[in-house]
Amino acid sequence: MQCPCGSSISFQQCCLLLINQDNNAQSPEQLMRSRYSAYATEAADYIYQTYAQASRALQTIADISAWAKETKWLKLTIHAASDHTKHNNQTAVSDGNKEHNLPTVCFSAYYQHQGEYFLMKETSRFVVEKGQWRYLEGEVSNNEALIAPKRNQACFCDSNKKFKQCCGR
Ligand SMILES: [Zn+2]
Ligand SMILES: [Zn+2]
Repeated sequence: MQCPCGSSISFQQCCLLLINQDNNAQSPEQLMRSRYSAYATEAADYIYQTYAQASRALQTIADISAWAKETKWLKLTIHAASDHTKHNNQTAVSDGNKEHNLPTVCFSAYYQHQGEYFLMKETSRFVVEKGQWRYLEGEVSNNEALIAPKRNQACFCDSNKKFKQCCGR
């Protein structure tokens, strides 16, 4: 199976290595991709573990799992990722104050939830905790319901495929 994150390599050689904790994410973008793939494959434990500590306290594995089960993730597009190498561990530590210095990843994702299609756009912020990249929080700038095309019409995700061969499968 091709990796859900859209990297065009196999799931086994891509995000599954992170989800199985064989490898650690080397950048916020890699962590973000692996969390997307974890949602797509209902790996709720991994999603929970990769939240920053402060955010993890607001989550439960059961809630993450329920949301993942109700949702079919269709396509991820990364728009921008800040250069994380500019952020040393000192600036990347969350201290509860303004976190403008934290590295961000801006992405959009198509998903299906309870039979309806949506496009969401988010800017996520990441911190380093105990030497590991963690997801702190995200600001959703857009989350709109989409009108599904007819089966033979072009897919809404700009793949140049017919809907029935793409997000409508
Ligand atoms: Zn991947
Ligand atoms: Zn599509």
